[in-house]
Amino acid sequence: MHDVIIIGAGPAGLSAALYLLRSNLDVLLIEKEGIGGQIAKSPRLENYPAIESISGMEWADKLFNQIDNLGVHFDFGEVTTIKKLGEAHFQVDYGTIEESKAVIIASGVSHRSLGLPKEEQFVGHGLSYCATCDGAFYKDQDVLVVGDGNTAVQYAISLANLCKKVTICTLFGKFFADEIIVKRMESLPNVVIRHNLESKELLGDKELTGVRFLNKESGEMETLNADGVFVAIGQVPHNEAFAPLVDLEKGFITVDEDMQTKTPGLFAAGDCRVKKTRQVVTAVSDGAIAAVSVEKYLSRNS
Ligand SMILES: Cc1cc2nc3c(=O)[nH]c(=O)nc-3n(C[C@H](O)[C@H](O)[C@H](O)COP(=O)(O)OP(=O)(O)OC[C@H]3O[C@@H](n4cnc5c(N)ncnc54)[C@H](O)[C@@H]3O)c2cc1C
Repeated sequence: MHDVIIIGAGPAGLSAALYLLRSNLDVLLIEKEGIGGQIAKSPRLENYPAIESISGMEWADKLFNQIDNLGVHFDFGEVTTIKKLGEAHFQVDYGTIEESKAVIIASGVSHRSLGLPKEEQFVGHGLSYCATCDGAFYKDQDVLVVGDGNTAVQYAISLANLCKKVTICTLFGKFFADEIIVKRMESLPNVVIRHNLESKELLGDKELTGVRFLNKESGEMETLNADGVFVAIGQVPHNEAFAPLVDLEKGFITVDEDMQTKTPGLFAAGDCRVKKTRQVVTAVSDGAIAAVSVEKYLSRNS
């Protein structure tokens, strides 16, 4: 039996692990995709205190090495069920069954899709949700970025370093991103900004060749051709598997200020919980709070 099982190796899960391991607890960390969660997909992390600029992947690798050196048990797999079998006794199923005295859910969020026909089919064939992962495939080519927030703007900036032309298409007449990065993007000569475009159709047979938009200003349909399309239109939580033991609000887990869910011994931290600011610094903070709360819970119940 582990002391704690953590679900998700993003910033919240990694930070919780760091605190728990430093308290000499036995921690199993389970991750379904890749270490670092969303931030591993970001070319630049520039708003983390005391670190001027670092790639998201490098930041996550450093944190993972830190917990690896402290003896974390790590496994890949998708957690599909959590059962509470008794006071301070959980069973977690991720293909393998493991048991622990407490559990922290740090499952984050994942990208929102456009919801257009053939979208799934085009992933890896011209459509991507991650510029850091796939940008290099489009070196010296023309790409579109669909989105208007920080992630979309960051994608446009990093793709502009690689691609011949980057056209960023927003749904409304403005960006919902930090002014500092919007200004940086606007200064780039190979970035074209197009507002008021609503994605209607993904074009192409086997490979994506462009997007057909409704131009909301003119009311006309408009086709923008591209070698690649990067979609960055927000995120969605995936907490359905945990629903029997937690309360959900629009899919996000509700917790108290100690990150405690409605089930004693089951905690949630980071982007997966109801909160207003979803950032690395807040995820890391949630992870630390959840870990301290777990320690208190274990000292009361072990
Ligand atoms: C492109 C991009 C750029 C960003 N840039 C910045 C930035 O510059 N500064 C900033 O502060 N924030 C940035 N963010 C936001 C930041 O990355 C997130 O707020 C942060 O990663 C949230 O951490 P988390 O641990 O809560 O969740 P996540 O990072 O989403 O990690 C959750 C992890 O849990 C795993 N998981 C989910 N469900 C399961 C399951 N059932 N079983 C096992 N594993 C599971 C996922 O695979 C994932 O690895 C950016 C996000 C993106 C997408």
